[in-house]
Amino acid sequence: MSDAREGQATLDGVVSALRAHESFVMVSHVKPDGDTLGAGLALGLGLQQLGKRVAYFNENAVPRNLRFLPGADRVRRDLGTLPDGTMFCFFDMSDVARAGPYLPPFDAAHTLNVDHHLGNTRFAALNYILEAEASAGAVVLKILEALKTELTPQIAECILTTLMTDTGAFAHSNTTPAVLREAARMMEAGANKERITQEIFANKRFAAQHLMGTALARMRFDAEAGVVWTVVDAEMLASCGADSEDTEDIVQQLRIVDGCKVAVLFKALEPGEVRISLRSNGEVNVQSVAARLGGGGHFRAAGCTVPGSLGEGVTAIAEALRAEGVASAMVVPA
Ligand code: 5GP
Ligand code: MN
Repeated sequence: MSDAREGQATLDGVVSALRAHESFVMVSHVKPDGDTLGAGLALGLGLQQLGKRVAYFNENAVPRNLRFLPGADRVRRDLGTLPDGTMFCFFDMSDVARAGPYLPPFDAAHTLNVDHHLGNTRFAALNYILEAEASAGAVVLKILEALKTELTPQIAECILTTLMTDTGAFAHSNTTPAVLREAARMMEAGANKERITQEIFANKRFAAQHLMGTALARMRFDAEAGVVWTVVDAEMLASCGADSEDTEDIVQQLRIVDGCKVAVLFKALEPGEVRISLRSNGEVNVQSVAARLGGGGHFRAAGCTVPGSLGEGVTAIAEALRAEGVASAMVVPA
């Protein structure tokens, strides 16, 4: 079932395992995005075509801008009693810990890990990790093709959402010709690109845009090191009437500053911890930076959570960046 690459299942191995199981739980990561949800929903919809029983787990509520996804209303934290031998399938997560603490107990022998992150810990019995793919949903598409299920408009919409989420609506460098061909194919199969654009990229809440302005007003730029950073704290959220979902697009606005090599958003929303989002223009591997602090991600997009105050979070990132060759005297912006 494994090929030469250690811990990597073959596509045939994945397909026969999926066919052999009758009950599934599709697991998406905490603070879910369009890739982790779209990938799990797409495979789940395909398996439902085969008469399988499929449940969808996420520890959080589906974010407002992803509720349009076909099947999103079936995602929940409490799944009730599951049949013995239920297969747990994990999407878009480099480690099982990304599923969060509420994941129901599962049998490690019946697990599938579908991902595209660098440094995936290959935590499942079957690991199908294609690092060159732009989204976990693109990996699912290969599995669905091998399963020979019908590419319904609903499945196509889920897959197109994963591609658009992880390429920034086809703007990032992972937008290969193959991605554009797959996207075109999803549109031909009935995916509504306009709806995805509208739901995910265009219907910003007033509070979110207000928060964006507040965060950009505190933005700092170390032009010599090429580091742009800012903070969002609970006070800023409250004063804008915003919530944590409204922070999604801020780090991208830092990254597009001319001369930015690394963009960092520090979020101090829960007491005693700082959640950090990192973006790179391609020179610096921010996955390595995040990994130094227990996080992970991709070369150009990564994240981590560090304990302590905002100041401690900034210091931790400054040190991790220095270790990766980017020396910047970062401070908490006033
Ligand atoms: P974001 O900044 O949008 O939260 O995350 C960017 C990327 O890094 C995503 O691909 C996400 O899956 C990954 N990532 C974010 N936070 C963590 C983390 O704490 N651990 C790991 N392993 N990956 C993370
Ligand atoms: Mn992804």
